[in-house]
Amino acid sequence: MATVKPVVLVIAGHDPVGGAGVQADIEAVAAQGCHAATAITALTVQDTRNVSAFTVTDSALLAAQLDAILGDLRPAAVKIGMIGSADNARVIAGALRRLPGVPVVLDPVLVAGGGGSLALDDLQQAMTGELFPLATIVTPNGPEAETLGGDGSPDAAARAMIAAGARCVLITGGHESGTQVVSRLYDSSGRVAEHASPRLPGDYHGSGCTLAATIAARLAQGAPVAQAVEGGLRYMEQALRQALRPGRGQAIPGRFFHLPARQDTHD
Ligand code: PLP
Repeated sequence: MATVKPVVLVIAGHDPVGGAGVQADIEAVAAQGCHAATAITALTVQDTRNVSAFTVTDSALLAAQLDAILGDLRPAAVKIGMIGSADNARVIAGALRRLPGVPVVLDPVLVAGGGGSLALDDLQQAMTGELFPLATIVTPNGPEAETLGGDGSPDAAARAMIAAGARCVLITGGHESGTQVVSRLYDSSGRVAEHASPRLPGDYHGSGCTLAATIAARLAQGAPVAQAVEGGLRYMEQALRQALRPGRGQAIPGRFFHLPARQDTHD
């Protein structure tokens, strides 16, 4: 008999160096024991340092990918990363409405770690207006939280994102300074959890994707949000502790840290 694994619908862009985007999501989802079905929103041109170009998938082609997946598979959770354009956000909202009750993790990707844009100008408003109300949890890093929720405190930004319709918000602390990375989880009652871990040296590419995809996989397996977040942060910390450096720029999470690896390094 065939093995049944929970399916996570991943909606994301492609990163050719395999650190972030859809490959990060597939690896993280697979490492949790789930199966990833992937609808591609964009092709990017980038290395481990930064993005030099991207092209957004035509929204009709994205809709056709989602139709093919939803006509065949039954996702137990959805993870949304790079969206690219407002048209794509609207297509994704339509797909989510076909999945009532299925948890949705929205990683609101607007720029790459190196600072290059990953969104057309019209995306931000459509993401907030169309997708926040359908999201179980939105997982911005500090700068994304400022862009989307206002440049007050993280608490104020989270309140604004919840007022825009997100059920929960996890603001990750990787971009703050200090010896600890503090990530904060909010729901409509306010801040409900805080997770601290030691700050690891170096810069990483694909950590946000890895975390959000892991949370989605754990939700697909039936974990409640707070538990999925805690497990996701623990997995990401392990993956960062055993990061790989496949190129000359940022390191990428070692998402299969439980498998044996060769220890070659780049010069
Ligand atoms: N999605 C794609 C396709 C990307 O290329 C990137 C970053 O380069 C991201 C998402 C966000 O990556 P991170 O997990 O580093 O925030």
